[in-house]
Amino acid sequence: MRLSRYFLPILRETPKEAEIVSHRLMLRAGMIRQESAGIYAWLPLGLAVLNRVCAVIRAEQDRSGAVEILMPTIQSAELWRESGRYEAYGKEMLRIRDRHEREMLFGPTNEEMVTEIFRAAIRSYKDLPKNLYQIQWKFRDEVRPRFGTMRSREFLMKDAYSFDLDQAGARHAYNKMFVAYLRTFARLGLKAIPMRAETGPIGGDLSHEFIILAQTGESEVFCDRAYLDFPVPAAGTDFDDVAGLQGIVDHWTSRYAATSEMHDADAFAAVPEAERMAARGIEVGHIFYFGTKYSEPMGARVTGPDGQERPVHMGSYGIGPSRLVAAIIEASHDEAGIVWPDAVAPFDVALLNLKTGDAATDAACASIQGELEAAGLTVLYDDRDERPGAKFASADLIGLPWQVIVGPKGLADGMIELKRRATGARESVAPQALVERLR
Ligand code: ATP
Ligand code: MG
Ligand code: MG
Ligand code: MG
Repeated sequence: MRLSRYFLPILRETPKEAEIVSHRLMLRAGMIRQESAGIYAWLPLGLAVLNRVCAVIRAEQDRSGAVEILMPTIQSAELWRESGRYEAYGKEMLRIRDRHEREMLFGPTNEEMVTEIFRAAIRSYKDLPKNLYQIQWKFRDEVRPRFGTMRSREFLMKDAYSFDLDQAGARHAYNKMFVAYLRTFARLGLKAIPMRAETGPIGGDLSHEFIILAQTGESEVFCDRAYLDFPVPAAGTDFDDVAGLQGIVDHWTSRYAATSEMHDADAFAAVPEAERMAARGIEVGHIFYFGTKYSEPMGARVTGPDGQERPVHMGSYGIGPSRLVAAIIEASHDEAGIVWPDAVAPFDVALLNLKTGDAATDAACASIQGELEAAGLTVLYDDRDERPGAKFASADLIGLPWQVIVGPKGLADGMIELKRRATGARESVAPQALVERLR
């Protein structure tokens, strides 16, 4: 992609309304634009990151055996009356009337709708277990939308819903998501700690929040430092191995970790002093087991092996991809800008032409772009007619993992410069050796 043809509205000034670094950097790097309070347009660079975050989430959901669907954003109030949540949900729910005066709403979550979909199709234990997930926009009329996409009103959520015959089955479904979440956050370059959490309006009694430690986080958390060094389950983990998964979950819940709502000061005091962390964190995921809370009132029943009908046991499992984009920046930036982990970078390489208009430099850049792209790397080629200083600053700001710097002086010696954004390390390479070096 040539920058001259792209849409990258970089801001020179630091926007005053942005209180935290990720919000400032997302605005400055032209990733998002606020359209109303807590409602954002995703511009190309931001969208590229969001899509990559979703791709990792999707790959790990699929690996765990969950199946993707896509439900509408607009739901009928009738459905929410069946579960009794329509009145209970309160002001965070955006209620809408259509032209026939029918009560509708913009979904803040989808337990009711997915239960309706399930009950229409599945009647027997033979069709269980099932886990259906989607990645879809949600709306919650937050009292205090802030920090950009960290707490917005319209936001993207990956929400999965599991259906099992009994509690033991549901526990295994919960464990699958638990392990999938550990892998997902690790692949995104984050250290997420599962913490005992309250279930809130979703209901139920078994719940963990996945928390990234960050000073700007809105949650107050208490945990054992040891979690930061716990090994993440391997890609080859067998999701059908009931005892194996339970072992992983037991290990990852063996030390103290709780959000402020679930905090037990006495239990925390028993953690060795050097291991104790009272910190702030960002909730990036949340998993719940809530039994028959929705299946019972909504009549989602299946016949068991004994011929008896019973309500299915359910769980729900959320991740916030749009919040994650901000959380990744909170965890990975420096004075000069964003430092994208390779797995989510909007492009792999920033190609900087230090003398646009110089025939030899232009030709070298065009051929490098072609070779890198042919090798499967994504390239943002800064072909603008700008000073080198401005190009260096933009490249550092948008944080692509590699910078390939091409100027007439270097080319005269048969060399170009390669810079790793994360470390600042620079090396000279011959253009012919570049693809091999980056592979
Ligand atoms: P919070 O405590 O931050 O308000 P929540 O507990 O209300 O979040 P859940 O209902 O657990 O959120 O939703 C699942 C996930 O959706 C959260 O873990 C978070 O990653 C994401 N999420 C929730 N609310 C927002 C929001 N306003 N903006 C961006 N992401 C959000
Ligand atoms: Mg909330
Ligand atoms: Mg919460
Ligand atoms: Mg939550």
